[in-house]
Order: sequence, then structure tokens, then C-alpha cells
Amino acid sequence: MQTPRFWREIDERYAMKGVKCGNCGSVLFPSRTLCPKCRHASYGKLTPFKLSGKGAVEAVTTVHAPPAGFELQAPYLLALVRLEEGPRVTAQIVDAKPDQVGVGTPVHAVFRRINTEGESGVIQYGYKFVPERATL
Ligand SMILES: [Zn+2]
Repeated sequence: MQTPRFWREIDERYAMKGVKCGNCGSVLFPSRTLCPKCRHASYGKLTPFKLSGKGAVEAVTTVHAPPAGFELQAPYLLALVRLEEGPRVTAQIVDAKPDQVGVGTPVHAVFRRINTEGESGVIQYGYKFVPERATL
């Protein structure tokens, strides 16, 4: 049975599943069907890879005027996180004050509610990051 795309994506978001290129060793997250570095040489060589969820902040900003659906969470911290395995992701930083997060702050992924979809009331979950305790 084919898993609907929607649920497959949720599953990937939850578990931080990406793929690893068997040609150059790059870890790709979110997963892709081709390695951007090796292109056709990576065909058939990408294998599922679970990321540790650990990384470090490369840039951080405080969002005061959020997009629709995120109003109740404002202001919040939005960061560019470089994961241990190499990929960069943009995600919210939670459980921290702005002065506790800066460039180089070690963080790890946690799974939290992202927002509630307007009228349908569907709750979306995904990863956010919290600073490692030692740095607080
Ligand atoms: Zn590659």
C-alpha cells in the first residue's frame, strides 16, 4: 500500500530522516532523490539516514511580525541551524530567551506543535530547537 505523501513527510519531519549520498558522503535533509553535488553519479546511491538532531546556531533573529497562523507565538526566535551532519535548516528556537542564543550556541531538535491550521483545526507538528542545557 502506498503511504500518502502527506504522512510520509510528517514521518520524515518527526524523525529527522534524510538520506546519505553513497558517492560523496553528503547528508541531505530534507531527503532528496539526487545529491546536488554528485547529481547523476548519486543515482541509486542515496540511502536513508537518521540525523542526530544536534547542531549549532549560525544566525538567529527575533520575529516580531510573524506570518499568518503564528501570531500567538510572537515574538519568537528563528534560527539558521547547521546540523552536525552538515545540512542547514531554518527553525524556531524554543525554551530560551533571546540573550541565551547566539552564533555558535549548541542546540538539539525537539518535536513540538508548530501551529494549528485555521478552520480545519489540524495541528501541525514538526521540529524546533532548544539550546543545550549546559549553555544556559
Ligand atoms: Zn554526493
